[in-house]
Amino acid sequence: MPEHTLPKAYNFKDTEEKVYSWWENSGYFQPSNDPQKPDFDPTKKPFVISIPPPNITGGLHLGHAMFVAIEDLMIRYHRMLGEPTLWVPGSDHAGIATQLQIEKALAGEGKTREDIGRDAFIERAWIWKEKYGGIITQQIRRLGASCDWTRERFTLDVGLSRSVREAFVNLYEKGLIYRGPRLINWSPNLRTAVSDLEVEHSQESGKLYFFKYRLAENPEEYLPVATTRPETILGDTAVAVHPEDERFKKYVGKKVIVPILDREIPVIADESVDRDFGGGALKVTPAHDPTDYEIAQRHNLDLINILNRDITINENGGPYQGLHRDDCRKKIWEDMAEKGLVLKEEPYTLNVPRSQRGGEIVEPMISEQWFVDIKPLAEKAIRAVKDGRITIVPDYFTKVYFNWMENIQDWCISRQLWWGHRIPVWYCDDCGKMMVKREDPASCEHCGSTLIHQDEDVLDTWFSSGLWPFSTLGWPDQTDDLKYFYPTSVMETGYDILFFWVARMIMSGLEFLGEAPFHTVYLHGLIRDENGQKMSKTKGNVIDPLIVMDEYGTDALRFTLLVGSTSGKDTNLSVKKVEANRNFANKLWNAARFVISAIEKAPAKAEKDPVWTPADEYIHARMRQTIRDVNRLFESYQFGEAGRQIYEFFWSEFADWYIEAAKIQLDKEGDQAFYTAWTLMRVLDKCLRLLHPFTPFVTEELWGHLKHTCQEKSAEYFPEDGWTDALITAKWPESKLEEKWEILAVENFSKATIDHTRGFRLLKTVAKIPANRRLTGSIIASENFHTLLNEQKQYIEQLAKIKGLVISEGIPDAEEYQNYPSESISSIGSLAFLIMEKTSDSKELIEKLDKDLAETKGQIERIEKLLSSDFAEKAPASVVDKEREKLANYQETAAKIREQLGK
Ligand SMILES: [Zn+2]
Repeated sequence: MPEHTLPKAYNFKDTEEKVYSWWENSGYFQPSNDPQKPDFDPTKKPFVISIPPPNITGGLHLGHAMFVAIEDLMIRYHRMLGEPTLWVPGSDHAGIATQLQIEKALAGEGKTREDIGRDAFIERAWIWKEKYGGIITQQIRRLGASCDWTRERFTLDVGLSRSVREAFVNLYEKGLIYRGPRLINWSPNLRTAVSDLEVEHSQESGKLYFFKYRLAENPEEYLPVATTRPETILGDTAVAVHPEDERFKKYVGKKVIVPILDREIPVIADESVDRDFGGGALKVTPAHDPTDYEIAQRHNLDLINILNRDITINENGGPYQGLHRDDCRKKIWEDMAEKGLVLKEEPYTLNVPRSQRGGEIVEPMISEQWFVDIKPLAEKAIRAVKDGRITIVPDYFTKVYFNWMENIQDWCISRQLWWGHRIPVWYCDDCGKMMVKREDPASCEHCGSTLIHQDEDVLDTWFSSGLWPFSTLGWPDQTDDLKYFYPTSVMETGYDILFFWVARMIMSGLEFLGEAPFHTVYLHGLIRDENGQKMSKTKGNVIDPLIVMDEYGTDALRFTLLVGSTSGKDTNLSVKKVEANRNFANKLWNAARFVISAIEKAPAKAEKDPVWTPADEYIHARMRQTIRDVNRLFESYQFGEAGRQIYEFFWSEFADWYIEAAKIQLDKEGDQAFYTAWTLMRVLDKCLRLLHPFTPFVTEELWGHLKHTCQEKSAEYFPEDGWTDALITAKWPESKLEEKWEILAVENFSKATIDHTRGFRLLKTVAKIPANRRLTGSIIASENFHTLLNEQKQYIEQLAKIKGLVISEGIPDAEEYQNYPSESISSIGSLAFLIMEKTSDSKELIEKLDKDLAETKGQIERIEKLLSSDFAEKAPASVVDKEREKLANYQETAAKIREQLGK
């Protein structure tokens, strides 16, 4: 760090930028043991994380901030442990999201994607990517992410496109990819198939339509059938009844007539039929309903698709061809009513499938798509978690994982989009045959014709992100990076994409490389607002991490996210919490300034061996305990709790107790001043190391100043492993076995100094005496504790602002002792007395109480007036209640003061 005068206040704006580019330019983000470099040692085990690639369309949100904070914490921790660490950054081409952006821009020019054609469209998408695709990675840098940017990847770059091809062809050659008519979720607005995971079901009110399915042999007889979508009658290929339904048993095997179209279809028996739904018989439309599709599979029924891709009725719809789905629904029902086929309509709550992205109703539709036969892959992935090759943190997601994987459906991987990895399949226009190729072919391998064309569809974005942990390292080539860094170590991401992404990476890693892509999956929760509500633009409760960083600094945001999080659980976030942690950064700064100036003033070395004071022993012992706790918590992925413990230690034990005690010791000069300054240096150094993964910027900056000051001062001021170049690569504090003296040291200082200081402070608060006013104090304690108390008398006097502290065994006879305020200290069974200097103290006290009473009365009047105005009717009930509560509190306070004053 170039600068060495420590400013009075922490200026995070200057520091963050300066420190980040210094780290990056110094190469600290690259692995310390690197196969790309000459002295590479392949035996050293690396720690590797692949970043969840953010969409190039995305602006930074709290979800990004969360994963960056947690992953950066892990990476920094392992880097400080001395392991070669690699965090691979990159971004995702985000098929649907990006395509929508480009289409939106085109719409502004009055054009559609078809108007400009595929090539021009792709060209535009790339221009868009060059212009905007880097914004998100810039924002991720601002969070302090120590990724190796020299290894940055994009899911559509050349190398990753090769991986995608290899994966597709590999699966195809194994017979695990097939093309076929299958029921898919068709999103009419996006004009593409979407996966089950991209469909959300919402409860909406609709209608249930009851009608007659007439018997072919006797049109007077009919089966009552109900549907929520009458237009699907056009695609019916059977009517199903329950095999044990006495009402309909006799019809099984007979034919019924499809209304309007007059097609004959069979009545079948299937156990899946719900006898209580509708009329008890079920119309079966296999091409437009998942349950019906399964029935059709069991009974070999025909599949009749009645919809075009724009949700108009196709040629199978007879007289309704060309009508929009909704118009057809109305028309066919009217026509059926005319023919006497309608029984009744009832209001009904529908479970409507809607597109997660566009919100429109998704139509189940039979369509030619590419699928991955996923069961064989899923079985391997289940085994990898069962036998412990992969651990999921928190553990309860393991069950969720098994449940999903055991019931997994074939994965529809084709998307009718233009932006993405085009399916590597070519069709011959002459012989009609198909080729699946790693390299683009020039001619047909079957007949030699050059009239060939590539499949129009692209692959689901998750197909390429599922290869991420190894495609980014060069697979399918056996690169040095792949050999050394694969398998990676931890996959950290939100639990909401466990199936979208994590499960697919596990399946593909096992399939293509034969090894699980990581040994641990760490899942974090969602971030909600301070009341536990989901953040959304419509609710207006979204917190923008960029604004928060501008206002309070990156460290404050990171610390808040990390300390508030527990694996797998949602976190409630408020700006107030970030503000409080900004204050923590300031506290850190001020404490460090004190330490640095203490070192500057203290002797350069000691004359004699150290004689540790109770305060020194206390802080050294607590430091050792804290390091042990933090290490234990880090090893079990409890980062939030670790952060809370370091915070507590630093704020309370170090800053509030030790630094205050140190002031007395520094004043004594000589050896005691030296050992005190040395202790301050040691503890601050360790705190900065422990805090570095949480708040990297402020700790690096302060550590640089501390190091500089110590090096200037003398060779006596140094951490255990000496001064290294930067905190980012300094050694992580090691746990040391607990020694007997530690427990005693903590106990002694707590019992004497801490407990008695607190006792005196409380006495002053209760008696409303200003904390800084020095009164005489007295402690009555058993003689066993007199040595202990006398040793620490100076601290108690200084910290509690007490003068002439007397320690004695019994309560003196003096009558006035009865009237002195006292507090019993439970840890050693002592009593602390505040000796009131009657006249002046009580006069002052009465004046203060009078003043307080007047103020309180003023508040009571103000609120009473407010509550009697129309405010009480117009303001929200919660606000009014709050005012009432305040009023009650003030009234209580006033009563207490009156009591004290004897009024
Ligand atoms: Zn051919």
